[in-house]
Amino acid sequence: MQINEKIWAFWSQEKRPTPCLVFDLDKVNKNYNEIVSEHPHLKVYYAVKANPAPQVLKRLVSLGAFFDAASIEEVRMCVDAGADPQNISFGNTVKSSESIRLAYELGVRLFVFDSEEELIKIAKNAPGSNVFCRLDVDCTGSDWPLQEKFGCSVEEASAFMQKTVDLDVTPLGVSFHVGSQQRDPRAWDRALTDVAELFGDLESKDIVLKMINLGGGLPAAYRKEIDPIPSYISDIYHFLSERLSRFSELEIMIEPGRAIVADAGVIFSQVVLACVRQKTNKRWVYIDIGRYSGLIEACGNAIEYNILTEKDADPHSHAVLAGPTCDSEDVIYRMNYELPVTLEEGDLVVFPNAGAYTTTYATKGFNGFMPMHEYYL
Ligand SMILES: *Cc1c(COP(=O)(O)O)cnc(C)c1O
Repeated sequence: MQINEKIWAFWSQEKRPTPCLVFDLDKVNKNYNEIVSEHPHLKVYYAVKANPAPQVLKRLVSLGAFFDAASIEEVRMCVDAGADPQNISFGNTVKSSESIRLAYELGVRLFVFDSEEELIKIAKNAPGSNVFCRLDVDCTGSDWPLQEKFGCSVEEASAFMQKTVDLDVTPLGVSFHVGSQQRDPRAWDRALTDVAELFGDLESKDIVLKMINLGGGLPAAYRKEIDPIPSYISDIYHFLSERLSRFSELEIMIEPGRAIVADAGVIFSQVVLACVRQKTNKRWVYIDIGRYSGLIEACGNAIEYNILTEKDADPHSHAVLAGPTCDSEDVIYRMNYELPVTLEEGDLVVFPNAGAYTTTYATKGFNGFMPMHEYYL
């Protein structure tokens, strides 16, 4: 089977209960280094939600990474893993006053906002902190867009930043997210055009921003091929230098989640039942992991994982791949997948690049199917 040798060796030496994730921590080093290799001053804030396992966070602390946390619990996980609170960004634009205050008490001094109400909350509960404003940008080209729920327009951002003059916070910079699994580097160029407009507008009002946060979105290799990550980074730096005249003085942050952990983790699952439903003449393959136990991102074919089995040399035909629960929405892929016709109960079904947005993206045991086991090597 074409998967990471270390992970396959671990799996082969002793059969583990399925479903489970086996994760190669050395891939975190490789992925982190690919992002910073050409740009050592680029500050990598790992988006904790992609995989918050303590082993992953500790490995990133040892690499000198920074962290993007979305909740007070994620802030605490980073601190517990050894992160300096000064290196944590509270990067959710929707935070309770209490969580802001608790993060501030722990030593966090960097907060995001995208509304005047949130900005005022931060000034009140985390006085003296640095703040950055999130723009709502065009997510075209992304397989998991993040438009509309977050971010504001350039005009709003300008007004909010001017408002900071009356508040006890320092306006540091601007952020955006071009959508997760963004395969088109031009998405960053479009966003940076908005950023440049905001910078120009604020400079005319004597507010000089110092930071640009490039957000997440760097893609991982699933069924669709992607360019190597260093080529995305070099494209983005090219756009930065073209759009922003002061670019060399700016602090540049990036918040990868998926690109750090996706190809480091392999999910092993097993077939529970394979049968043909006569009424629709469709073959259904039911496995022991589904939308409620880790594969939510497969919904509507948003993320199309590679799938491997030990029968891949046998003839294939279309199959609906479904999870094990009694919910009819618990379907992984209705279309686009051909699977070996010989699959039967007990056969292994492997998702080789599934280290991101799986382990914690699961219910607390809907229908008694618990989140997967996790092994970090
Ligand atoms: C989820 C998230 C990220 C990470 O996105 P990826 O597409 O996994 O790189 C980064 N920043 C913010 C604010 C996020 O919500």
